[in-house]
Amino acid sequence: MPEREPVTVVDYLNLAVDFLAKRGIENPRLHAELLLGDVVGLKRIELYLQFDRPLTTTEIHRYRELLRRRSTGEPVQYILGHTEFYGRRFAVNPSVLIPRPETEVLVEQTLNRLRGVAEPDILDIGTGSGAIAVTIAAERPDARVVATDISAAALDIARANAERLGVSDRVEFLVGNLFEPVRGRVFRAIVSNPPYIAQDAMYKLPANVGYYEPPMALTDGEDGLRFYRFFSRHFKEWLTPGGMAVLEFGGPDQSDSIKELFKDFDKVIIQKDYQKDDRFISFFKPDS
Ligand code: SAM
Ligand code: GLN
Repeated sequence: MPEREPVTVVDYLNLAVDFLAKRGIENPRLHAELLLGDVVGLKRIELYLQFDRPLTTTEIHRYRELLRRRSTGEPVQYILGHTEFYGRRFAVNPSVLIPRPETEVLVEQTLNRLRGVAEPDILDIGTGSGAIAVTIAAERPDARVVATDISAAALDIARANAERLGVSDRVEFLVGNLFEPVRGRVFRAIVSNPPYIAQDAMYKLPANVGYYEPPMALTDGEDGLRFYRFFSRHFKEWLTPGGMAVLEFGGPDQSDSIKELFKDFDKVIIQKDYQKDDRFISFFKPDS
């Protein structure tokens, strides 16, 4: 710590790292940098190139306020209003789940399995911020995507993300429960990261998840498998012949139940996440 009064970028950064670390915030330096970068309009690396730039009084007040919010556990992504997913920036707010890095594996798996399929029609159920739907549309310029959510507030964010990332002409956003908004239509692929946390497990979530993210995005209000039971009964109606699905689920504890639910489908693959835990299932609609 400097002997003199704090003045510069580096002075405030060091104070902020101490402040967050004392309050048990993980990665205090990263978060201190992200928040200061937001306040002064600089990228993290640029902060160190301008380490002796003085902060204005307004900047200091704003930085203090953001640090206070972070220190109480509010996720840094909600404070900044955005996050990264599959190399792109997505706006987020407390109406949407913060897209998780694991979910990039779901996107990758979908893209791999759609290789060679021209102009696929894709449905994303429970799109939240639009991370999956918008990324697939951006990666596959010939795809048309329908993205649904029961939350109109989530769809506002998803729509804004599609617009900013230049895919809004190929992503249709529809509000409603499960398949209701797409009655009578069929898709080459259905993807979903539905709520999969059991109601009873909600109290065990880390505070930054349980207190800040929308409960409707996290829990199915039952045992965590409600959406998969519904999907296993109805997918065949909504998939074209040869159509496929890729789903995220809650991890190894759900693996056996999930495999059992989708055992009548073809080419079933369970895929692991970055922690090497079972996390995704993909399969095709059988021909007959
Ligand atoms: N797809 C996003 C992602 O991967 O980051 C968000 C996934 S979040 C776990 C689940 C989403 O499903 C939430 O946006 C929630 O609003 C939505 N949802 C919950 N119940 C639903 C229902 N019955 N029908 C459609 N969407 C639902
Ligand atoms: N992956 C989220 C978590 O770990 C939960 C998202 C979901 O329920 N699909 O909290």
